[in-house]
Amino acid sequence: MRTPYIAGNWKMNMTPSEGAKYAAELRKAVEDAKADVKVMVAPPFVTIPAVVEALKGSSIIVAAQNMANHTSGAYTGEVAPAMLKDLGVNTVILGHSERRSYYAESDEFINSKVLLAIQEGMDVVLCVGETLEEREAGKLEEVLSRQIKVGLKDVSADQMSHITIAYEPVWAIGTGKTATPEDADSAHAFIRDTVKDLYNNDIAENLIIQYGGSVKANNVKALMAKENIDGALVGGASLSVDLFLPIITFDK
Ligand code: PEP
Repeated sequence: MRTPYIAGNWKMNMTPSEGAKYAAELRKAVEDAKADVKVMVAPPFVTIPAVVEALKGSSIIVAAQNMANHTSGAYTGEVAPAMLKDLGVNTVILGHSERRSYYAESDEFINSKVLLAIQEGMDVVLCVGETLEEREAGKLEEVLSRQIKVGLKDVSADQMSHITIAYEPVWAIGTGKTATPEDADSAHAFIRDTVKDLYNNDIAENLIIQYGGSVKANNVKALMAKENIDGALVGGASLSVDLFLPIITFDK
């Protein structure tokens, strides 16, 4: 049985004071809703302390959107895992398509961050997904397979309980276009099979695979009804409690 995992990626939105206000509202709404769902929010780095403070004692997880691939040192502008952990942050999103495309993060580079996060005892949401060009060229499986195999290189079977995979077709992120539940489910099934080949059936069956790409209140239920879709990574619709709560409570 896989517990649904709904995550909000705030990207470069929300100042510390806005984040604190939002977090207090979300906390109350989630407590009142009593949904049997794991909920996470990923604020920008500087907003994290205010959100952690507002969510102290709540079950809502606070994650980072990115992290350095080094533990400390002369890496201007970077944030080390120990800095996140010191704030109480133990989860990090890695390999988001915006990091891959705007900041040229390669699968190998992302893998180095995955390994460091795990070595530091953190949980990882590893994002994978194809561009429209890749999909239209029939390369969906080739791309997913490479992103998973390289992204998880040297992650042991025991460490896989710290990994969540988010399937985010790049053409569906922030565009209002969503993969059909059938297309998303088939990509998720392919991801699960790939993980089964790399590890074993139990690990693949227990793996949480989130879907991301214009998830909204009006499409979440159909997506979550699919066998291989275990959660959502939500961008735009996570930026207000009014839009995010109905996604969290999709099952109510
Ligand atoms: C995302 O940022 O991971 C995302 C899926 O964004 P959106 O929901 O806005 O498409």
